[in-house]
Parts: sequence; C-alpha cells; structure tokens
Amino acid sequence: MPAKPLPPTDPWTEPYWTAARQGKLLIQRCKTCHHYVFYPRLVCPHCGADALAWVEATGKGVIYTYSVVTNNPPSAFMADLPFVIAVVQLAEGVRMMANIVDCDSAALHCDMPVEVTFEARSDEITLPQFRPQR
Ligand SMILES: [Zn+2]
Repeated sequence: MPAKPLPPTDPWTEPYWTAARQGKLLIQRCKTCHHYVFYPRLVCPHCGADALAWVEATGKGVIYTYSVVTNNPPSAFMADLPFVIAVVQLAEGVRMMANIVDCDSAALHCDMPVEVTFEARSDEITLPQFRPQR
C-alpha cells in the first residue's frame, strides 16, 4: 500500500508547517486592510499589499460543507474508509479544506461547530484536521 501523499511546501509557508508541528494553526492577516487570509500567500488577495503577517487562529469553526467518502480506488486512503472531507469556515472567516476526524459521520451537518486537531503524517508534515467541538 502506498503512503499517503504529502502536500508540497514552499519557503513562505514554512511558518505554517512549523506551527502545525507544534499544534498551532496559523493563518495570515493583512497589515494594510486587516482581512484574514488562507491559504498562505505572498500578497493580500483583498488589497494587493505584500504585508501579510502570521497570526494564530482560534482553531474553532463550523462545517461549511462536507462529503462522506465511502468508496475509492485502491490507495493509501482505503484503510480510512469511510472518511469525511470538509470545507471548514474558521471563526476568522476564512475557509480551509480538511478531514473531519473522531466523529460519527452520520451525525455531521453543515454549521456544526468543529475544532482543530493535528495529524502528523511525517517528520516534516503535520496536517490540521478538525473534529466536533467538545
Ligand atoms: Zn490587504
């Protein structure tokens, strides 16, 4: 069975990955227009300023939308079936895609409160995931 694929990283996303290894979820905030930004970028998508700062997110949010995956072609993910892939809207307003873990997939619903948890996939890559708020 192949290993799960790991996301590519860039030099400017290193703070994000370092924080994730430490159990912290970082997003960016524009120093000029103050909008929160996710995914990591070099330039603010709202105003074009190159003044994005890293800030720690609350790690709280709600499920914006989700899908329960019950079948897929042979891959490293088969052992996880069924699993949930979701778009989570963080309290800061940005949305990120992640798995919803530690849950009964039949009990999930849109707007369900969730909180971040972390899954180490390698020495370098720890992925933010979400679980129902406790
Ligand atoms: Zn901006």
